[in-house]
Amino acid sequence: MRRSAMPIANWNDLVKRAKTLRYATDLVESGLASPSDRAALDSVAARYAVAISPSLAALIDPADPHDPIARQFLPDAAELVTVAEERGDPIGDDAHSPVAGIVHRYPDRVLLKLVHVCPVYCRYCFRREMVGPRGRGTLSPQEIVRALDYVRANKNIWEVILTGGEPLLMSPRRLRVVMRALAEIDHVRIVRVHTRMPAVAPERVTSDLLRALKSSGKATYVVLHVNHAREMTKEVRAACAKIVDNGIPMLSQSVLLRGVNDNADTLDVLFRMLVECRIKPYYLHHGDLAAGTGHFRTSISEGQELMRALRGRLSGIAQPTYVLDIPGGAGKVPVGPNYLQEKGGKSARSYRVEDPSGGHHLYPPAVAD
Ligand code: SF4
Repeated sequence: MRRSAMPIANWNDLVKRAKTLRYATDLVESGLASPSDRAALDSVAARYAVAISPSLAALIDPADPHDPIARQFLPDAAELVTVAEERGDPIGDDAHSPVAGIVHRYPDRVLLKLVHVCPVYCRYCFRREMVGPRGRGTLSPQEIVRALDYVRANKNIWEVILTGGEPLLMSPRRLRVVMRALAEIDHVRIVRVHTRMPAVAPERVTSDLLRALKSSGKATYVVLHVNHAREMTKEVRAACAKIVDNGIPMLSQSVLLRGVNDNADTLDVLFRMLVECRIKPYYLHHGDLAAGTGHFRTSISEGQELMRALRGRLSGIAQPTYVLDIPGGAGKVPVGPNYLQEKGGKSARSYRVEDPSGGHHLYPPAVAD
């Protein structure tokens, strides 16, 4: 859908204009899409929200038909193709939502979804039917009170995970109000914030935001959503360093995406870079069954092979867990690969173990005569 080439002067103009691209016209005028694709792009944008932040637009190389940033954010006619197993709510948020904004899937933790808008719209988003200007919007003040009342009333809730949408789109002032309310709930010990903001709009990581993030006084973690090392620009790395330097540990989550990061070298570079930035790779998600995202999904066996390839060559602290969110809301589980096979039934307590180089061993080792 993109033009095959663009003069570099125009590319620089694009950065200077510093405007979020939201419509087919914007994409064509910026040189990121061809005029002949305008009608198809309009159809995609009518179905799913589109937004590309200025810093991401600047990262896209219009001359590269396989640009991994473009693939994540530029709409594609393939999104209009849905297959039978895809769903509007692929991980079953609604089935576990006792009040607006809360998803209570596991006993000791809840998601708190305050906003359903984002600074960018990822083309593979698992909540793509809920987010965007035509999505579920922002919780009203009354809904926020009810969501916090739910957390307060359920004393087994140990961890609250702010997600969305993009929770850091809230102003620091509004974020502080929520954080201070959480501060008053003794049984909540952990606040986790899932965000794409530092990677797509690093200028939004301000001292004000950092103060707001810390204002609950609870142990607070920031989980960065990032899929390719090209997203980790100098500005993004500086924004993440500010977060960590302020005493907030960072983890990352990535989605395994065909044409973006579905090879071992790309994942290797990404995970090493994250660790160098003091961000622990936490999850590599298998692509969810979100409508119109089949062109991004790999098979689980491809994902397992990638993880197997990384096992021997990456430090343990650079290895995320490869996980599948079971469709319908049954939860998230690691999906291998598996290095251990039982031999001779459970009572025999004997195993065949695969080492990082693919060799096989008995555990416990055979006893010499
Ligand atoms: S930032 Fe998250 S919620 Fe927003 S579009 Fe991307 S994946 Fe979806």
